[in-house]
Amino acid sequence: ARQIGHDLGAALMTARALESERALVRELKQLDDYRSQLIATMSHELRTPLAVIAGNLEMLGTLDLEAVAMMHHAAMTRGSDRMKKVVDDLLMLARVSNPRYPLATVPVDVRDITLEVVELIETSARAKQLTVELALEPTDLVVPGDPTELDRLIGNLVSNAVKYTPAGGTVTVEVALGTDEVVIRVSDNGMGISEEDQAGLFGAFFRTTNPEALAQPGTGLGLAIVATIVERHEGSVAVQSELGAGTTFTVGLPLAHSRKGTPVPGVPAP
Ligand code: ADP
Repeated sequence: ARQIGHDLGAALMTARALESERALVRELKQLDDYRSQLIATMSHELRTPLAVIAGNLEMLGTLDLEAVAMMHHAAMTRGSDRMKKVVDDLLMLARVSNPRYPLATVPVDVRDITLEVVELIETSARAKQLTVELALEPTDLVVPGDPTELDRLIGNLVSNAVKYTPAGGTVTVEVALGTDEVVIRVSDNGMGISEEDQAGLFGAFFRTTNPEALAQPGTGLGLAIVATIVERHEGSVAVQSELGAGTTFTVGLPLAHSRKGTPVPGVPAP
């Protein structure tokens, strides 16, 4: 009888421990949902007044302003542009971090979107006297994916390479066919990232302690967005970098998703 009592007591303790663990998981999930909801609502609510400010600033810019007013106008435009970028990044991160937000899976040609991204960034790269080199595989490279998200993924990597490479440097963007995946490689010979920083790089709001990189404006959301989009596409992302020498980000996007199991029309099976 004592043995049975002992066993029952042990079983009861295990059951209680399990129940409190489940309660903790539920609480953490609720907190996570609350956090995502808060970010999404805040960014959404900020968007409308921001659009009003930006629209009015644009209209003011068409008027014949005095030199002092023009200076204030330029400063306000810079501020509103920067705020728009932060709000857009927050909204994007809230969107892609929400597992209930569906992935709009269609056939996407990775070469096409890479080309568009590079064309868009070329003006700012040229202004910084950077060389942008593009190496695209000569065949179509189609993956199942969300075009807006994949555009943002490549855009964030390329704009970081431009941002963190001093004048005169080179940014190289490669798209190639790997085994069962399309490989996107964005390299630069810029500031590089210390080993210590590489460990935290993909976390939200991560910013380095390197003063040279910190001189650039940023939110620390770009690479968190990259990592989340890669995860949603069942892909991989890796970084190779040396402080002062340069950085290479390598992304692998599977030619077909393994988990979803539904073939996408127009996407060849791996
Ligand atoms: P942000 O650029 O807004 O700070 P990111 O999440 O895009 O945020 O990047 C996080 C940090 O990683 C940056 O602050 C920078 O220190 C570092 N980083 C990202 N890309 C590069 C790169 N190509 N070269 C050097 N440092 C980089």
